[in-house]
Amino acid sequence: MFAAPEHDHAHCAEATLARAEKLCAASGARLTPIRRQVLEALAATHAPIGAYELIERLEDAEGRRPAPITVYRALDFLLEQRLAHRIESKNAFIACVHDHQGGGVVMFLICESCGAVGEAVSDSVGTALAKAATAAGFHPRAQVIEIAGECAHCRAKRAA
Ligand SMILES: [Zn+2]
Ligand SMILES: [Zn+2]
Repeated sequence: MFAAPEHDHAHCAEATLARAEKLCAASGARLTPIRRQVLEALAATHAPIGAYELIERLEDAEGRRPAPITVYRALDFLLEQRLAHRIESKNAFIACVHDHQGGGVVMFLICESCGAVGEAVSDSVGTALAKAATAAGFHPRAQVIEIAGECAHCRAKRAA
C-alpha cells in the first residue's frame, strides 16, 4: 500500500522515534509515555491518521482507550515540537519525517493513490510566499502548503 517493498518501514519508524527523543533531550521537552505512544502510532504509517482513529489505535490489550483529551494534549505537544504535523485537507496527523531545525516552508506532498504524505522543505518558496503576502498587505501566521499528486513509489509501480 503506502510502502513499496524497498522501503524499510520498521527502520523508518524507529528513526522517527529516535530523532524525537534526541530533539526533546536537546530542548528539554519531555517525551512522556503517552506522547511517545501517540508518536509511535502516527509513525506506524505514512498515511495521515484522524484523531478518532488514533485513539482506536491506542487501545490496549484489554480494550481500554486513553481519554480523548489526553490524546489531544499529546498531539498538541507533538505539533508544537514539530514532531508531528496536521494535514489540514484531511483533518488528520502525520509523524514528522523531516528535520525542521533549518526553518523554511514545509510542503506536504499528498499521494492521491496510496494516501502517503511526504514532506519537502524550501527556503526560496518561503521567501517568495512572504513577498507575495506582503504585497497583498497580508501578514501570514503560518505557511503550510499541501500538494496533491502521485508519490515516487506509486509512480514507479505504475511505470513497472
Ligand atoms: Zn516535518
Ligand atoms: Zn503513493
